[in-house]
Amino acid sequence: MKTFDIAIVGAGVIGASAAFELAGEKLRVAVFDRQEPGREASWAAAGMLSPAPDSPRDIPLAPLGRESLKLYPEFVAAIEEGSCRPTGYSREGTFEVFAGPEAEAERDRRVEECRRLGIAAESVPMETARSRERGIGPAARAAMCLPDEGMVEPRLLTDAVVAAARNRGAAFHANCEVTGLLMEGERCTGLVAGGERIAAGKVVLAAGCFSAGIGSESEIVRQYAPTRPVRGQMMALRPDRPLLEHVLRSTKGYLVPRRDGRIIAGSTSEEAGFEKRVTPGGLRRILDNALELLPELAGAEIVETWSGLRPGTPDDLPIIGPTDVDGLIVATGHYRNGILLAAVTARLVREWVTAGRTSFDAAPFSPLRFGARKLRAQHAR
Ligand SMILES: Cc1cc2nc3c(=O)[nH]c(=O)nc-3n(C[C@H](O)[C@H](O)[C@H](O)COP(=O)(O)OP(=O)(O)OC[C@H]3O[C@@H](n4cnc5c(N)ncnc54)[C@H](O)[C@@H]3O)c2cc1C
Repeated sequence: MKTFDIAIVGAGVIGASAAFELAGEKLRVAVFDRQEPGREASWAAAGMLSPAPDSPRDIPLAPLGRESLKLYPEFVAAIEEGSCRPTGYSREGTFEVFAGPEAEAERDRRVEECRRLGIAAESVPMETARSRERGIGPAARAAMCLPDEGMVEPRLLTDAVVAAARNRGAAFHANCEVTGLLMEGERCTGLVAGGERIAAGKVVLAAGCFSAGIGSESEIVRQYAPTRPVRGQMMALRPDRPLLEHVLRSTKGYLVPRRDGRIIAGSTSEEAGFEKRVTPGGLRRILDNALELLPELAGAEIVETWSGLRPGTPDDLPIIGPTDVDGLIVATGHYRNGILLAAVTARLVREWVTAGRTSFDAAPFSPLRFGARKLRAQHAR
């Protein structure tokens, strides 16, 4: 039987980043993906690096997001050096704009909330915002800037992370579906991938929104990783001349500039199961918002549309940490923030594996919070 120190299920940005960190510790790491690496949510993402909460449910996530944003420069530098590939990382800051009669009051509340969470945020007069981003549409009546926010190109990032992890010795097995975990009593001792039994000291479950359905032990897995897909549709536009330098957001959606002049417009948030179709209704919502934010986009070419499945969880928070099944670690459920959270998640997984504890309090994200321990104890009786 093939034997590794660590076997990782899923080669999205989370599994690949964990592999990169763990391979740096000279551990024998194998990553299994049922398709080519990085072709699910990590391929679909916009790439904003934003710890600012999207809703009150996101507030407990802010410290983890801030920590990951802090790690990002070092994280991408190591990956770019280790892979000799770009990630499209930049740290230009984000503008958020507000429309309607309550725009200024809403903006002031948002600035206050961000500051309370330790996130840098400044009110910006509309003239100043328009001097930095000339195309901002007339609907915007108030603006703020989040100067520390950054962006990456997620497809470049994931490719670079996979290459950097490979260069450190991690083995990636593409088109190799994980169909079960190997259990010996209360211990997870490996997995079944591509029909082959693989022994591993530890298994890291990082299969994004598919995590809950992994293999014949899915009842166990579902208790620790109750993920579900949340569809997000996206669109890439190419204007005739560069129109945007910063991320530009409103409560209805966002625009993210790419270095080659394209602008990524997003997104929807839909409970549509594992169905990844792009719909007229979804695209209309994205376009309405895009043209309100930046009216000059009306003449741009639509160069691509796509959708992806965010790994949602019951409380919208990621699931990161060891379980009470010895040998099983979970790193999934990153929902809208997996690109941002890749850096800190990889570090946490490395620390659990190598030291058994972490330098950052990740207790709020524990896989045990869904009551699995109780359920397992009941089973045992
Ligand atoms: C439209 C959209 C926009 C987004 N924008 C942003 C953003 O701006 N910023 C941000 O931080 N985040 C964003 N996200 C969220 C981010 O993309 C995700 O949180 C992140 O990519 C999750 O990464 P992952 O590696 O956990 O999952 P995935 O990228 O989905 O990877 C999971 C992997 O597991 C594999 N897999 C599944 N089942 C099996 C199996 N049985 N055996 C083997 N392999 C398996 C899959 O093939 C896949 O490669 C966005 C997401 C979407 C959809």
